[in-house]
Amino acid sequence: MKKNITIIGAGLVGSLLSIYLSKRGYKVKVFERRGDMRMEKMSAGRSINLALSDRGLLALDKVGLSEEIKQIAIPMHGRQIHNLDGATTFQPYGKEGQYINSVSRSTLNMKLMDLAEEHGVEIHFNEKLKKIDWAKDAMEFENTNGKSLPSFKTDLIFGADGAFSAARLQHQLQHDKFDYSQYYIDCGYKELTIPATASGDFAMEVNALHIWPRKDYMLIALPNLDKTFTCTLFFPFEGEASFSNLITEEKVKEFFQKTFPDALPLMPDYVNEFFNNPTSSLVTVKCFPWIRDSTFALIGDAAHAIVPFFGQGMNCGFEDCRILDELIEQNGDDWHTILQQYQTLRKPDGDAIADLAVNNFTEMREKTADPKFLLQKKIEARLHEKYPDKWIPAYSQVTFSPHIRYSEALQRGQQQEAIMQEVMAIKSIEENWQSEEIERMILERLERR
Ligand SMILES: Cc1cc2nc3c(=O)[nH]c(=O)nc-3n(C[C@H](O)[C@H](O)[C@H](O)COP(=O)(O)OP(=O)(O)OC[C@H]3O[C@@H](n4cnc5c(N)ncnc54)[C@H](O)[C@@H]3O)c2cc1C
Repeated sequence: MKKNITIIGAGLVGSLLSIYLSKRGYKVKVFERRGDMRMEKMSAGRSINLALSDRGLLALDKVGLSEEIKQIAIPMHGRQIHNLDGATTFQPYGKEGQYINSVSRSTLNMKLMDLAEEHGVEIHFNEKLKKIDWAKDAMEFENTNGKSLPSFKTDLIFGADGAFSAARLQHQLQHDKFDYSQYYIDCGYKELTIPATASGDFAMEVNALHIWPRKDYMLIALPNLDKTFTCTLFFPFEGEASFSNLITEEKVKEFFQKTFPDALPLMPDYVNEFFNNPTSSLVTVKCFPWIRDSTFALIGDAAHAIVPFFGQGMNCGFEDCRILDELIEQNGDDWHTILQQYQTLRKPDGDAIADLAVNNFTEMREKTADPKFLLQKKIEARLHEKYPDKWIPAYSQVTFSPHIRYSEALQRGQQQEAIMQEVMAIKSIEENWQSEEIERMILERLERR
């Protein structure tokens, strides 16, 4: 008989997982602490919009949703960099035709829930996981609206309840030899808005992810279908320019005028939003093991929360679901093997994307404005164009190559970076970057590794 499966959390990953499992014939129940966002007007939590790229799309494609989601997504073909003097430059993300997609978190989550229910998944809202009796595989929930369910048993539990997972706390953390680390970076974030213009248009180039890189911090903006942009200020908690220091209206105005002069006229409500929108922290969570026998597994942010600078957290969680589904295909109902292989395959990839994401913060806030870095990217793009199988820029491996594992992308990216450091140290590189000699040197180094 097929197992009864319970998923904790109807966020992006829990909802997609429930579709995959129900399509395989399992009876799936999902328990979500919040109310039904399709009925109540509520925020879907962090970040209003997200960058969906090829890994996420591939996972959505397997449940027949990718085309529908593309209809409600805005393609972003590259980074539009805003310098301090107001000048802008456009840096394509990949080759012609490659782009990432800005999607609304809540619309995507609601579509996933609709499809889950169409496949027979039961989603129970306002049910907050309180306790797991892991010796009996029994769970207790607290109904945030009133009457709680009696404790009940299930065959297999998936913890898809995010970075601060109660399932992880109630189950894995209770066991001996469970490794767990959480690491907060010294920057937090705050969301601000660029509304549509008076004539109802986008206030800036729509098909780009906008970045105002300012070394220790940065502002970014992603477009929304209603012609607004959601901006995110990634900013230190402490120091001269920091959340703890910008505490008066005058200070905020002075800082924004000095730092983001071209963005300011587009953000009429920024002072109000700065003081009223929440300041949130950014955490990396690594843990091991993710599974327990054939009865419990962590997935998505509950297994591997990462900082958002590669735009991969959701994409990685969606990839977890796709890989798990492939393992079900290969192993039938042998959940012992499925979960073992899931962990063996995905743990190194979760660790790798966590590290790549932290590194990308430096790239986005510091390097995107540096002419030497831009030249490096040009050289890499040219190599990729000429030798598409030999040289794939790290960003493209992560974002546009869903069949390259994150762990492989990290390793190959490090090798390529070491070669590029040598190349960029050549004195005449600005003049000679297109020469055969440089190309030969790069290819030789590549062969040697
Ligand atoms: C500022 C920011 C920007 C980001 N941008 C991107 C991006 O551009 N691209 C990208 O791919 N990723 C991005 N991410 C990462 C992405 O948001 C996460 O990786 C993704 O939301 C993970 O989905 P999840 O379902 O695992 O967890 P969550 O989205 O956190 O969902 C967990 C669900 O579990 C529920 N829950 C929690 N506790 C309980 C409980 N005790 N009982 C029952 N239910 C519970 C929650 O209410 C929630 O619905 C960003 C993250 C941040 C913070």
